[in-house]
Amino acid sequence: MAEKRVIVVGAGIGGLSTALTLAARGLDVTVLERADIVGGKMRALPVGGAAIEAGPTVFTMRWVFEELFSEAGASLESEVRLRAASVLARHAWTANERLDLFADIDASAAAVSAFAGPREADGYRRFCARAAEVYRTLEGPFIRSDRPNPVELGKRVGLTGIGDLWRIQPFATLWSALGDYFSDPRLRQLFGRYATYCGASPFAAPATLMLVAHVEQAGVWTVEGGLSRLARAVADLAERRGARIRTGAHVARILIERGRIAGVQLADGERIESEAVIAGGDVAALGAGLLGPDAAREGDRVPARERSLSAVTFCLNARARGFPLAHHSVFFSSDYRAEFDAILRGRRLPPDPTVYVCAQDRDDAGAGPDGPERLLVLVNAPADGERRFTPQEIAACETSWTRRLAACGLTLEPAGSGQATTPEDFGKLFPGTGGALYGRASHGWTATFKRPGARTRVPGLYLAGGSVHPGPGVPLAAQSGRLAAAALIADLASTPTWRGAAMSGGTSMR
Ligand SMILES: Cc1cc2nc3c(=O)[nH]c(=O)nc-3n(C[C@H](O)[C@H](O)[C@H](O)COP(=O)(O)OP(=O)(O)OC[C@H]3O[C@@H](n4cnc5c(N)ncnc54)[C@H](O)[C@@H]3O)c2cc1C
Repeated sequence: MAEKRVIVVGAGIGGLSTALTLAARGLDVTVLERADIVGGKMRALPVGGAAIEAGPTVFTMRWVFEELFSEAGASLESEVRLRAASVLARHAWTANERLDLFADIDASAAAVSAFAGPREADGYRRFCARAAEVYRTLEGPFIRSDRPNPVELGKRVGLTGIGDLWRIQPFATLWSALGDYFSDPRLRQLFGRYATYCGASPFAAPATLMLVAHVEQAGVWTVEGGLSRLARAVADLAERRGARIRTGAHVARILIERGRIAGVQLADGERIESEAVIAGGDVAALGAGLLGPDAAREGDRVPARERSLSAVTFCLNARARGFPLAHHSVFFSSDYRAEFDAILRGRRLPPDPTVYVCAQDRDDAGAGPDGPERLLVLVNAPADGERRFTPQEIAACETSWTRRLAACGLTLEPAGSGQATTPEDFGKLFPGTGGALYGRASHGWTATFKRPGARTRVPGLYLAGGSVHPGPGVPLAAQSGRLAAAALIADLASTPTWRGAAMSGGTSMR
């Protein structure tokens, strides 16, 4: 297969996973990344001399990476040092209302019982059982497979599976489904927050997203050196398997000639020929024509109101007082519905936000340094990255989250200035997204099926990344990269004269 030249656009985890898989299979792979480092959203920022992880802080579904590395002849454990979290997160509503969730269901059930009573603990166990059922139903036919339409999904899960799918309540929202398990509004808020893991509102996301609860119980992993280290490890292994990775290379156009892929053109005019291109940026960029008119119809046109959430993040070194921060702590707003209404209907930063704090120097139980520590603070925001968020709006956002933390007893004393990233910044970092961090919003039961799959109608053009099936988040984006690589390899195997056929312009890869 050595003569098959493949270009991967973007060194996010989806693009890198594709590149690794294809390079390990002997293809000639070049990754072109516009930024000067690899990893995309898995990035760290230098603040006050320290590198603070400014993107994902944990990952789940470890099997995705175990398979990715082992299929490339390596092992995950030997490439990165992982630690399983025993405390998943510490949650707070006020200074007196705190709840830790654990990877261990019994420990969590005991904590829920102490927090909200035995009936809620019973609801929690029922919820976990249903979440496990949802995950088991969908792992094979959905997560591990090419994008299905609803009818195909029904066929794949079979008759028993259809019963399971129906019990999943595909047409219910996560918020309403949670009412079947919890009467305490705080617990509904806590588990409703899982919708935000793919940038959705719990009031609009389908109940299927409860599968996140199961995925977390199966293991939440941190990486020594941060998640950016995991992206680097995938890139390093891809290079060892022969892939070339070029940073500072902005692809301005995907070239399609005589109906099939011919290569790409960089912003500086350089033309690079290839038989296949895997587009690993957001599919909204393709749809908006940012990779040229030829490929535009293979992308997704996502109106601003159908985008997933953006965020305002702050990376800072600060001394924390008055609250026992765990590695992950969540400080809930007093009115969740009002928070999402402000973001999604009002298109503004919420005046009372839910605040996520990652205390990167602490272990999950909370042990950490005495002095200033590295913190990532995150609040949800509308994906309106085309408009300028004024310094006043960002200052007001900082005041809002500081007030929310203070309501739970926490004060942060910054040591030096921090670094904010706004929806506008995210929009510039990830073209075509308007700052949306998870592609199209998973709102309504059909949204999942609107994400494109790996194959496009153009022979030789494939899609990967968090805006593509099976969805966003570190493991799913990596899985999309594996699916794109598998599709390309399968097409190649079924069309032995691929390159020759390409030259004559007649043969489809499908
Ligand atoms: C603040 C934050 C917190 C998060 N927390 C978590 C978490 O805890 N756990 C979790 O699992 N997920 C989390 N996520 C989501 C997760 O990071 C993403 O879903 C995942 O990393 C996306 O990967 P991707 O493959 O879509 O590529 P991306 O990370 O989107 O990268 C795409 C790459 O393509 C490049 N590119 C785009 N266009 C071009 C072009 N024309 N030419 C060349 N290069 C181009 C970009 O520069 C970028 O490097 C978080 C995301 C953010 C932002």
